[in-house]
Amino acid sequence: MKDAVREACALLRAGEIVAMPTETVYGLGADAFNPDAVAKVFAAKERPSFDPLIVHIASRGDLKQVAVVPAELAETVDKLTSAFWPGPLTLILPKHPDVPDLVTSGLATVAVRQSAHPVFRAINKELGRPIAAPSANRFGRISPTAASAVMKELGGRIPLVVDAGACSEGVESTIISIEPREGKKPVFRLHRAGPVTKEQLQAFGKVEKVKEAAGGLPHAPGQLPSHYAPVTPLVLLEKPSDFRPIEGRSYALLSYRGEDDGPYVNLHDWEVVEALSPGSGKLAEAAIRLFHVMRVLDESGVDEIIAEPVSETGLGVAIMDRLRRAAAKS
Ligand code: AMP
Ligand code: MG
Repeated sequence: MKDAVREACALLRAGEIVAMPTETVYGLGADAFNPDAVAKVFAAKERPSFDPLIVHIASRGDLKQVAVVPAELAETVDKLTSAFWPGPLTLILPKHPDVPDLVTSGLATVAVRQSAHPVFRAINKELGRPIAAPSANRFGRISPTAASAVMKELGGRIPLVVDAGACSEGVESTIISIEPREGKKPVFRLHRAGPVTKEQLQAFGKVEKVKEAAGGLPHAPGQLPSHYAPVTPLVLLEKPSDFRPIEGRSYALLSYRGEDDGPYVNLHDWEVVEALSPGSGKLAEAAIRLFHVMRVLDESGVDEIIAEPVSETGLGVAIMDRLRRAAAKS
């Protein structure tokens, strides 16, 4: 792996882009201070320039290179970063002028986190510069949680994929912005649900969801209603009784536990059934497997994927968010 880290850093220094694992999903990284390199990320992903990237730093001390933390947020930022970094919590903070506008889509704020993945951390540290890295998939498609999935998405478009096995979280980082309150704990605006849950954040402040704007417009750039989408239509079936199969059409079930006697499994003579957490029904396992299972079903050749809901607590909030966006029509 040392050689791979060295090769990745050599490419990044030369202004190239490299796919590499984070604990959430595989990312497509570029030197965050090199706008030409960042432009290659947008081009390879076919990502619209209004969708800003997350900047990854090697240590908490590097935060000042990319963000200007206002005095009234300093204590909260300190508490959150001590508790959750390195890890899957992204903070939206006022941007440092050195961060190119392309990275933040011209916003005055920057999204920043420190990855906990040992390989990503090694690359970040050896490079000695922040890395701008969105998920290593084509825009709007299923995020990759293994190097093979990156190859399917971006093979031929990028010079290197660093393969370090499957990701340990499986869904993208939790994103929050912070609003200080005089004499009270701050308010955290939840821009994207992720592995750091509302329950965990509540120890440090009040968590409020950012409202989706009317007309399906994103509340934050990039949080589009349709995202993480397979090519095969996916329907999130909130109640089994809502299922109306059409004669001659083939259906796959994306099940939570996949038990033989489950109401969703028994509902239909499914062409394929894939379970997120076979038998045991653990949300953490379901999150890790979500994008992999979506990809398997997408490639299974059925006409439609029917997804069973999971309970919307803890990590289930992030899973349901991804399923809803996968099911939304673009
Ligand atoms: P990813 O594709 O995982 O890199 O996700 C990046 C997402 O972070 C974007 O799609 C935005 O929703 C969000 N984001 C990044 N920067 C900002 C920002 N400055 N303000 C609000 N949201 C942001
Ligand atoms: Mg993404």
